[in-house]
Amino acid sequence: MKMAAKVLLAMASVMGSTVGSAQAHDVPVNCDNCVQWNKPVKPFNVYGNTWYVGVDGLSAILVTGPQGHILLDGGLPQSAPVIEANIKALGFRIQDVKLIVNSHAHWDHAGGIAALQRASGAVVAASPSAALALQSGTNGADDPQYQADPVVHVAKVSKVKVVHEGEILKLGPIGVTAHMTPGHTPGGTTWTWTSCEGNSCLNVVYADSLNPYASGDFKFSGKGKTPDISASFAASIAKLAALKCDIIISVHPGFTDVIEKAAARTAAHNPFIDANGCRAYAADASERLTKRLAQERSQ
Ligand SMILES: [Zn+2]
Repeated sequence: MKMAAKVLLAMASVMGSTVGSAQAHDVPVNCDNCVQWNKPVKPFNVYGNTWYVGVDGLSAILVTGPQGHILLDGGLPQSAPVIEANIKALGFRIQDVKLIVNSHAHWDHAGGIAALQRASGAVVAASPSAALALQSGTNGADDPQYQADPVVHVAKVSKVKVVHEGEILKLGPIGVTAHMTPGHTPGGTTWTWTSCEGNSCLNVVYADSLNPYASGDFKFSGKGKTPDISASFAASIAKLAALKCDIIISVHPGFTDVIEKAAARTAAHNPFIDANGCRAYAADASERLTKRLAQERSQ
């Protein structure tokens, strides 16, 4: 989320609790980018049991297994029915989604989670800070974009399991590992898992946003009223660069050309496989943070 986007409508409500359908929609968020972001995309395979089920500008990833599936992120409130339709189009059942995890608890990645939890009955898991944001339906005072005007509220996620650094959430033979990458939000989390095709198993990284966006007078350098988080932000970037990473998928697909890679895929060549993907993503983030800090310090 970049809160410079003008938010026109910020109300949300929970309208039902029937497991098996996201038809009980939550009130959409309207922002400058929302219509473009939420454009439907035909779901596609990334590698092995890893599937893209998100929309044009907001990723949602399904990792499938024989004892249920794991869904990463839920897009906007209005993305939930699109994600559910994408899961169905691939031949999977929303009821088999047993776990939903979140990259960061801004409304463009977490807004659909409440509806998707109602539709699936899945456990929702998030970092301590993200869990608080999901349960309250908005971000906290320690979020760099907390002071955005107007403050956006989305449907609250009633129950959230709290996960910590390095924790592996298992679902039968599949599982995802949480890597805390605070900076863009205090609870930002990057998730990793392994996907196999035959004997060829690759490390997949679902990379959280590492963009230093802020609203109000928040300063990453601590130059304002907010604490200095520049070191922990830089550490998150270094951590992402050092992950075992054969495939990177970013929370906004455009950051790592996810849609373009799918279009360029052939039987002989899978463009998602890129040993340098995480390092390139981290290098770009590092450059943005350096620029941002220099700008703050020059003020
Ligand atoms: Zn965000």
